[in-house]
Amino acid sequence: GEITHICLVIYDVTDVATNRHQLQAANTELHRLSSTDSLTEIFNHGHFKSMLKREFSRHSRYGSMASLVMIDIDHFKRVNDTHGHQAGDMVIRQVADVIRKHARDVDVVGRYGGDEFAVVLPDTDKAGTKVFCERLREAVEALEVVYEGHTIRCTLSLGVADLSKPAHDHVTLVEWADQALYAAKKNGRNQVSVYE
Ligand code: GH3
Ligand code: MG
Repeated sequence: GEITHICLVIYDVTDVATNRHQLQAANTELHRLSSTDSLTEIFNHGHFKSMLKREFSRHSRYGSMASLVMIDIDHFKRVNDTHGHQAGDMVIRQVADVIRKHARDVDVVGRYGGDEFAVVLPDTDKAGTKVFCERLREAVEALEVVYEGHTIRCTLSLGVADLSKPAHDHVTLVEWADQALYAAKKNGRNQVSVYE
């Protein structure tokens, strides 16, 4: 019953800790890459859709307000045809920057497809969203994209829908905003249209 020796075993876990740290960093980067559009660095279609779905769930559960804006660059094919695809890419990037700068931190900004963008504005009604859209429309109208010495200008058409009317799901909201966007295009482009 007498202690004569004590044995201490010391493990050096530096490698394990370092590996875990690197794995966490890699996972974070992987998550960022899988949710980001590489051209514009805003959310990609898939991630935007899941954020929209989440906002709709918040609305269903707590009755919170939210609106959705669908945005499309007018006559964008002309930019590609006249100045080339690289110039078109630059226009898409700069338009995305303008949208990002105008949005609040809580807003969700995504590239929906080619020259189409979408923004979810939580806790915002139609009137507030219209103000946001009008500011955005004017900012892009004033934007000058300089590519190889040429100045390229473009305009936006915007469609707005909100949840003041009961919507079946988030897809319905997208359909409403799409219809409003279609109306903005049909009525002459470079304008904001609201789904009523
Ligand atoms: P509208 O006013 O009706 O929107 O006319 P539009 O010419 O903009 O027509 P639409 O929106 O259908 O055209 C989108 C074009 O965007 C078609 C495609 O060639 C181009 N596009 C899609 N993705 C990219 C991209 O990543 N880079 C570039 N440069 N062009 C793209
Ligand atoms: Mg377009």
